[in-house]
Amino acid sequence: MPFLVASIDAAYMAGMSDGWTLQALIDAGMSVTGGCLDCHRHQKLDLPALRDRFGPDAPAMEWDLRPRMKCAVCGGRRITLTYSPDTSPKDLHRKRT
Ligand SMILES: [Zn+2]
Repeated sequence: MPFLVASIDAAYMAGMSDGWTLQALIDAGMSVTGGCLDCHRHQKLDLPALRDRFGPDAPAMEWDLRPRMKCAVCGGRRITLTYSPDTSPKDLHRKRT
């Protein structure tokens, strides 16, 4: 049991220092929305598709992903990424009451 706890802590700490991976974002239920600063389009990233493409351990911090992103509409490379917890309406309702 102590070994198990230690290994979880080590993995957790490694994850914290290295930042998010694609799999970590998916596991945490995070959603990432990309926005184009040139044409002001926004699109939610398909994290499972990115994971399949780059691998589950691929770093997924904003500065890791942003250089790989390009706007398919205007070709702009000034992309902004927003990370947010994928909250369901049910959770919001629970918080208010
Ligand atoms: Zn654009």
